[in-house]
Amino acid sequence: MTEDIKKAAEALRRSKHAIAFTGAGISVESGVPAFRGSQGLWTKYDPQVLEINHFLENGGECWPAIKEIFYDHFGKARPNAAHLALARMEEAGILKCVVTQNIDNLHQRAGSRMVYEFHGNSSRLVCLRCGAAFASNKIDWTKLPPRCPNDKSVLKPDFIFFGEGIPPLAYQKSFENAAKCDVCLVVGSTGEVTPAAFVPVKAKETGAYIIEVNPDESRFTGSVTDLYLKGKAGEVLKAIERELFPDDKAGA
Ligand code: NAD
Repeated sequence: MTEDIKKAAEALRRSKHAIAFTGAGISVESGVPAFRGSQGLWTKYDPQVLEINHFLENGGECWPAIKEIFYDHFGKARPNAAHLALARMEEAGILKCVVTQNIDNLHQRAGSRMVYEFHGNSSRLVCLRCGAAFASNKIDWTKLPPRCPNDKSVLKPDFIFFGEGIPPLAYQKSFENAAKCDVCLVVGSTGEVTPAAFVPVKAKETGAYIIEVNPDESRFTGSVTDLYLKGKAGEVLKAIERELFPDDKAGA
């Protein structure tokens, strides 16, 4: 593994346009469970609460589960060593952006600035009738469902539900970056959710070197991945950070 960490750091150091592509796995060490897998959220909740047509008809019924998953669980989470390592790489000019499937805001809270949120962000709620947006920390969570103060419509989290399209700008910027990157660091994603999973595929087609970090093999592992670093995101990215910035106190 040490040799592979050195290889990854060297590829990142030499890169001209490195990007990261992250999935739910990067936030697992922050206490945010993934959807899939034996510990995933779908072992406890019915994914139907996030289907757009179901939500539009039964928003009130969906909200207790949505609150529990996204505002009770996510609300307590803090960025972990993996989020911080990516922010440090961006600060040093190595990483050009993070394309994330996550909606937990943890990359931004760690200090990453160029973050393309492929699936939106849970820290905003929107009114589908009048378009007004509200910060989740300003919502009175004692009253469910949360309603728009203007027209009393049920609010929707500003991340995409099953059956909704990808936010156009995030989509465009993610694929633009994939089409010009020379290294793509894929962290904590099964590769099962499309079209997001096509971002590393696009990077590979471009000729990029694909480094994957995941304790378990994914759909990327046997297909696009060039260097597979088996392990938890926090541990592996911290090791790469130490290799890249040996003089950093935080990386020591
Ligand atoms: P996923 O839930 O399908 O899979 C999670 C992946 O993370 C798996 O491959 C698993 O092996 C890996 N993993 C588990 N622990 C890890 C660790 N400590 N370090 C690194 N990897 C680890 O995730 P996905 O492919 O990102 O797709 C799920 C969808 O669910 C995404 O579209 C995302 O929008 C959404 N989601 C987001 C969050 C979040 O914002 N934190 C949480 C749950 C789901």
